[in-house]
Amino acid sequence: MKKAKQPGAWISISVFALIMLSQAEKINAQSTTKLPGLFYDSHFHLTNYVQEGITVQRFLQIMGNDVQRSTLFGIPLQQQWSYGNSGNFAPTYYLASDAPLYYYSFTDAFIAMAYKALPAKDQVKFDPMITGFNPADMYAADHIRRVLKTFPGVFSGIGEFTIHKEFVSSKISGEVSSLINPALDSVLSLAAEAGLVVLLHNDIDMPFPKPGQKPYLLEQMGSLFRRHQNATIIWAHCGLGRIVRPVKEQLAMLEDALTDPQLKHVSIDISWSEVAKYIVATPETISATAALINRFPDRFLFGTDEVSPADSKAYMAVYNTYQPLLEKLTESAREKVLKGNYARLFDAARIKVRAWEKAHAGN
Ligand SMILES: [Zn+2]
Repeated sequence: MKKAKQPGAWISISVFALIMLSQAEKINAQSTTKLPGLFYDSHFHLTNYVQEGITVQRFLQIMGNDVQRSTLFGIPLQQQWSYGNSGNFAPTYYLASDAPLYYYSFTDAFIAMAYKALPAKDQVKFDPMITGFNPADMYAADHIRRVLKTFPGVFSGIGEFTIHKEFVSSKISGEVSSLINPALDSVLSLAAEAGLVVLLHNDIDMPFPKPGQKPYLLEQMGSLFRRHQNATIIWAHCGLGRIVRPVKEQLAMLEDALTDPQLKHVSIDISWSEVAKYIVATPETISATAALINRFPDRFLFGTDEVSPADSKAYMAVYNTYQPLLEKLTESAREKVLKGNYARLFDAARIKVRAWEKAHAGN
């Protein structure tokens, strides 16, 4: 009897092993299967500094089949048209006027309504973000809570919002924002609690720093991020700007941050044509950046930072500029930077934020 049982046991073990093997293959196949399209856009502005732009339906046409997912936000700041400053000239960009910028909270309702007007098959392509709060206001977190409760089922994150930005921060009416303001701590605490992805713009340094001058912004930002290790944070543009150039030790500084176990929750977006310009400037900058991304492929996200692009040519420009960098990435790193990391962070956010909204409905 014992001997008769053995072949049976052997067969069931073999069947079990086969099932396990095919499951492992499935998992393997999933991790190497390419997600559809060229990229997912982790940084996209539907509207500009005077709250105008293209419709989300037009954006869907521009995305076509090449871009199957994107974040969706306006710009929280409105450039005032001050007659006393520019007369009949109507500025549409922050560099076009000396008049101040102010926080325009209606942007969140505008984005939510645009999203809600879409059919479900198109809604799944977008991750709308809350931006219309003043990060120097202790009431900022209350605004975010109010938006989530007013528009449940819509938002996945907050941002792009700005703390220090060349030309911009100093133009905003009212108290200037800072990385050491407890108002910002309460925003990040709420983001962690609700599962909202945080997309933060903060320049890595001041424009034209003196040689040897320590970038105090970087130090303050490091402490801020370490205080909020449960938040999912994306640092926009590697901290670069129009005239905030890559500091000499930029890649070494990024490497320090990426190896810091207390900063595991921080990813970096390489969005903006200005940033692409620095990264693809020379064969050396391309190789050095590619080497860093290949070493930390889970920590970088592609984004365009396009503001209300007129057509697909304008929209694809940043992606096209980045080709020399993308070619130097391993296949798996490229897939993660272009799509995989976006899917991982925002899929998790959608689940967490929906759960938070459910738990807080009616409160
Ligand atoms: Zn942006």
